[in-house]
Amino acid sequence: MEKRISGHTGLMGLFGTPVGHSGSPAMYNFSFQHDDLDYAYLAFDVNVEQMPKTFEAIRLFNMRGGNFTMPCKNIAAELVDKLSPAAEIIGACNVFVNDEGVITGHITDGVGFVKNLEVNGVDVKGKKTVVLGAGGAATAIQVQLALDGAKEVKIFNIKDEFYERAESTKAKLADRCPECLVTVEDLDNKEALADAVNNCDVVINATIMGMKPHDEVTLVDKSLFRSDLVVADTVYSPEKTKMIVEAEEAGCKAIGGKGMLLQQGAVNYELFVGKEMPLEDYAKFQAEQQ
Ligand code: NAD
Repeated sequence: MEKRISGHTGLMGLFGTPVGHSGSPAMYNFSFQHDDLDYAYLAFDVNVEQMPKTFEAIRLFNMRGGNFTMPCKNIAAELVDKLSPAAEIIGACNVFVNDEGVITGHITDGVGFVKNLEVNGVDVKGKKTVVLGAGGAATAIQVQLALDGAKEVKIFNIKDEFYERAESTKAKLADRCPECLVTVEDLDNKEALADAVNNCDVVINATIMGMKPHDEVTLVDKSLFRSDLVVADTVYSPEKTKMIVEAEEAGCKAIGGKGMLLQQGAVNYELFVGKEMPLEDYAKFQAEQQ
């Protein structure tokens, strides 16, 4: 480390609270060292009220880039100079890049998800999709699917505080991506869900169901799975959710959430330094540490 950090080292960082558990500093610092890039990445515990000062610091220290996490993603979108199309539609950003003083905010959860489908041989263009959920991850995925040319995005959510967000995403996408059909339905309407799954190419779980401690739960009955259906989960803990296990058993192409997490990191890295992230070497390094 003492050889790596110099008087010229550029700073990058993660902002939000809590940040102590984040794997981002280890992943990005490994990659900078691997690629011989003179940057260091740290995590800063800041709340929403501290974000205007955080932006002053980002500009003062001429930080090249970094990430925002909860609860700072929305306020960050108000403080950047420019927004990517997806970040503008959603009104939140999880990544910033500073190009000679001009700070652009991006949202990359959806980009990482779609890239992970691509890596697994699934092109979303022209596809009919069903997305369960209307929270942060689900909204980013819905917007990216529409921006990337999906034919349909059928949103299902329980009637909780996120339902309204699904309606708002539908309205925004009708304006921005009119060629993509977006619908919203109650997840408890099992008949509508079965009909949508029977008539779609890709079904995606972007709720917290399936994640520990809800790992015994799956929202799509396995009787609906067929071999030409792609089943994807955003949940990465456990690595294989009940939904993914049942989809594999039914012969579907089943894609878990871990790849989305990695691809999102890779998308961010490319925005920061214009290079592909050394994902395989980082995975090997992580395995050695365990
Ligand atoms: P969020 O809190 O913003 O949204 C929660 C969602 O779960 C909402 O749609 C809500 O209606 C739904 N939900 C809650 N209780 C439910 C229930 N009983 N039945 C059905 N639906 C229910 O959460 P988020 O940040 O969008 O995260 C959602 C999931 O996405 C999590 O499992 C998270 O691990 C995963 N995620 C994965 C990645 C990745 O890189 N793989 C990135 C972000 C999030």
